[in-house]
Amino acid sequence: MNEQFRQALPVIETLKRHGHEAYFVGGAVRDYLLKRPIGDIDIATSAHPYEVMSIFPKTVPVGIAHGTVMVIERGVSYEVTTFRKEGRYEDYRRPKDVTFVRSLYEDLQRRDFTINAIAMNEHGDMIDPFGGMEALNDRIIETVGDARERFSEDALRMMRALRFVSQLGFSLSAETKQAIVQYGHLLQHIAVERIAVEFEKLLLGSFMSKAIELLIETNLFSYLPELATKKKELAQLAAYSLVPVHRIEAWARFAYVARLDSQGLKQWKLSNHLIRDVSICLEALERIHSLHDWTTDALYEYGRYIPHIERLRAVLHGDEPYVQHLLKRWEALPIRERKQLAINGHDLLALFERKAGPWLAEMIGKIERAVLRGEVENEKEKLKEWAVCNQKRENNY
Ligand code: ATP
Ligand code: MG
Repeated sequence: MNEQFRQALPVIETLKRHGHEAYFVGGAVRDYLLKRPIGDIDIATSAHPYEVMSIFPKTVPVGIAHGTVMVIERGVSYEVTTFRKEGRYEDYRRPKDVTFVRSLYEDLQRRDFTINAIAMNEHGDMIDPFGGMEALNDRIIETVGDARERFSEDALRMMRALRFVSQLGFSLSAETKQAIVQYGHLLQHIAVERIAVEFEKLLLGSFMSKAIELLIETNLFSYLPELATKKKELAQLAAYSLVPVHRIEAWARFAYVARLDSQGLKQWKLSNHLIRDVSICLEALERIHSLHDWTTDALYEYGRYIPHIERLRAVLHGDEPYVQHLLKRWEALPIRERKQLAINGHDLLALFERKAGPWLAEMIGKIERAVLRGEVENEKEKLKEWAVCNQKRENNY
């Protein structure tokens, strides 16, 4: 057992002391067995949510209806979920109601893939009734039970299968792959937001190309927003091997290759904030590409986006990224944002004794550019002088 699990042991031990069963489950156990860095630790228990809440001093009822209570132990939070099986599935989506059960076996049985259905007890022993460890060894993603049944219960699992391909580099079992071919259309019943969560993980995975190829091969891509007619473009996406380091870059590379504009990204129900970030990167790429270089103006304008844009530029044009070099240039600019200008609107209104109007923004823009180009120092008196001279010069024309 590693340090993270050892730290979480008191949660299991406390539940056991109160007469309940408790195990580590889910992604953390899988990643631990794969010797990959583990994420959040999830715990499954026979205790009911209200029992969990009465046992631990610090809890948050994050998903009581689904049996999940967050337990905070020594500053770390753990999701503790009561053993459950899911109620009847409606419309190929995960069910609204769940039934709490007292056996670990049933809890593992409702999980999506065998690699995600392994439990670990407090001694580090694995409880693996569905052959998850063998699948890990064979690098196979296969559903727990009949794939067609599991995908008709919850069609999102098909997207999850491919995002695990992307993250782990595993293959789909023949049955699982065949079921995706057959049931792909059920994805239409799933909320786009949930699809986007899995797709983003797919875009950020180390084996994205493999997952994209499977998306095409199984025809699942044609049920994704905006992609039904983009088979060729998607195939191009599979040609990139470099892993994006940030979600903005992942979506921007995808949008660039699939030729989606912000309207297209809206269909993916991404947040307006993310769509704006992606759009800024795409616009910058075009501009920098047409100028063949990062100009001072571009550095100033794109500021905190520089690393994203530069890494994207490098990936898309098969070039080296020069992030550090560009950031040095950016840091050396006389100003990095308008706020840093030593003169403001009030100063200019007083100086020219004029009423506010479009001239003001224009003037500030000119001063800003002059400072950036080093034509004038960023110092109030000098800027005033420059503004007056500039005005005279323009009046003479
Ligand atoms: P990650 O490391 O990306 O969080 P994970 O395997 O922990 O991967 P989660 O989405 O956090 O994935 O889900 C936790 C566990 O819950 C899974 O390992 C799986 O056992 C189960 N699970 C999640 N979603 C489903 C689903 N749609 N159907 C069945 N089981 C699921
Ligand atoms: Mg998880």
